[in-house]
Amino acid sequence: MRASDLLHPRPEGLYCPPGDFFIDPVRPVDRALITHGHSDHARSGHRSVLATQQTLDIMALRYGEDFAGTTQAAPLGETIALNDVSVSFHPAGHVLGSAQISVEHQGTRIVASGDYKRQKDATCAPFEPIRCDVFITEATFGLPVFRHPPDTEEIARLLKSAAQFPERSHLVGAYALGKAQRVMRLLRDAGYDRPLYIHGALARLSEYYQSQGIDLGVLEPATVEGGKDDFAGAIVVGPPSAFADRWARRFPDPISCFASGWMRIRQRAKQGSVELPLIISDHADWDELTATIKETGAEEIWVTHGREEALVRWCELEGIAARPLHLVGYEDEGD
Ligand SMILES: [Zn+2]
Repeated sequence: MRASDLLHPRPEGLYCPPGDFFIDPVRPVDRALITHGHSDHARSGHRSVLATQQTLDIMALRYGEDFAGTTQAAPLGETIALNDVSVSFHPAGHVLGSAQISVEHQGTRIVASGDYKRQKDATCAPFEPIRCDVFITEATFGLPVFRHPPDTEEIARLLKSAAQFPERSHLVGAYALGKAQRVMRLLRDAGYDRPLYIHGALARLSEYYQSQGIDLGVLEPATVEGGKDDFAGAIVVGPPSAFADRWARRFPDPISCFASGWMRIRQRAKQGSVELPLIISDHADWDELTATIKETGAEEIWVTHGREEALVRWCELEGIAARPLHLVGYEDEGD
C-alpha cells in the first residue's frame, strides 16, 4: 500500500484510515495516539487515548483525571493491534514518557517521532532508532545554524555565575514539563546540592518526576517569607512567563537566565532581556536530525512542525525522497 494511504494529514491531525486513529490530534477525536505530554501534542477531550503510562499520568496531572473518555497504556516496544494495523511505542528521548509511534500495515512501516532529541538526558529514556520505510521528523531546529552545545557546559556557566555573584539570585526560565526537571537534574549531576527553589507551576510535575525515580534533590517553593535576603545566592527555576511578571521582583538583584535551544540566536536572548542564555534544548539540532534520518534507513522522510524546507532540501541532496507535511497547531511549549 502507498504510505500516504496509511497515514495522512487531516485538519484534526495525522490520520490512519485502516486503523481509524489520529496521532497527536489538535482537535477532539474518537481515538487518539499521543506521543508526549506537551500541550500542543496532548490535548484533552478525546474519546479514547492510547499513550505511554507516563504520558497518561502527565495528562491527568495537567488536565485532571477526566481528560479523556477512556485511556489505555502502551508499554514500550509492545505491539498493539488497532483493526489490522500494528502500532508500537518507542522512546523518543524528548521528555519523560515521550515516545515515537510505529504504524505498520501490509508490509509498510511509518514511524511518527513526535518531538525528539539525541543528547543524553537523565530524566527520560534515550531515543531508539527504528528501521522504517517512512520516518516523520520534526524540524524545530532544522537549520544548519542550530548546533546545541553539550548541556553540561551550559550548566557549568550557570554555576560559575552563581559562584561569582553570591549575593544575587539566578532566575532560570525553563518550560514546566521536561526542561525544568532536566535543568535541575543537570545541576545535581554537576554537584550542586543546595536546595533549588521552584515556582508553583513546576511543583506537581517535578514531584511526579521524583516519584518516577528521577532524583531532583531538595526542592523548595520559591515563596518569600523572611525577605529578599533569603534568596541571596539562590537558583530559582520557573516557567519563562513567570519571570516577566511581578513574581520575579521578589528576588534580590536577579540575573535572568533562560534554558532554550532558541538561545543560540543572540537576538532572541536580547529581546527577552536574558542576561545568561543557556542553550539547552529538548529537540534535535541539525546534526541530530540528519544523523537520525540516516539511521532509520527510511526511503522517504516527511518533515513537520518547524523549518521544513532546509531539511527537505538536505534529504533531496542525499537522494532521500522528502516532503513537508504542513501539519498545523504544533508550537512546542518545550523547546
Ligand atoms: Zn514536545
